[in-house]
Amino acid sequence: MRQRPAGRGPRLRASEKAFAEAAFSKEGPDMSRDCVFCRIIAGELPCARVYEDQDTLAILDIAPVVKGHTLVIPKRHSSRITDTPDDVLARLIAAARRVVRAQARALQADGANVTQANGAVAGQIVPHIHFHVIPRSEARGDRGKWTGGSYASPEEMRQTAESLRAAMED
Ligand SMILES: [Zn+2]
Repeated sequence: MRQRPAGRGPRLRASEKAFAEAAFSKEGPDMSRDCVFCRIIAGELPCARVYEDQDTLAILDIAPVVKGHTLVIPKRHSSRITDTPDDVLARLIAAARRVVRAQARALQADGANVTQANGAVAGQIVPHIHFHVIPRSEARGDRGKWTGGSYASPEEMRQTAESLRAAMED
């Protein structure tokens, strides 16, 4: 068994490692079935998990506008803000706020964008409602960036998710 470097938190689950690797493979994650987020929630596809509770999952975006860019997803499928119940929306926003706070602590973010797209015309790619939580740092020059980037390596993605999980309030 490989020795874990000193000072690191707990290892990510194998599924999270597989996801990070899939994100960097030529094929990318399997998007061919109905809803990629429902498949992630069902455990059929791995993810870089940042936060989870009974109703909500937060994962790293595989094409981050800024490193730490997180998607907050309800576990029950709905497509748009217009077909998502009020109580689900309330829990999503509360989870997004937790992520904003964790980004401030773990990534020294000075601010954050919390955005949500409805329909392909608005740029919605996965038809399962999700809020984007994008950390912004003056020192890193994040202001005004909106195009998707990437992590330098699967390891960097794993470490980013780990640092956010560690910074999450109970
Ligand atoms: Zn879904």
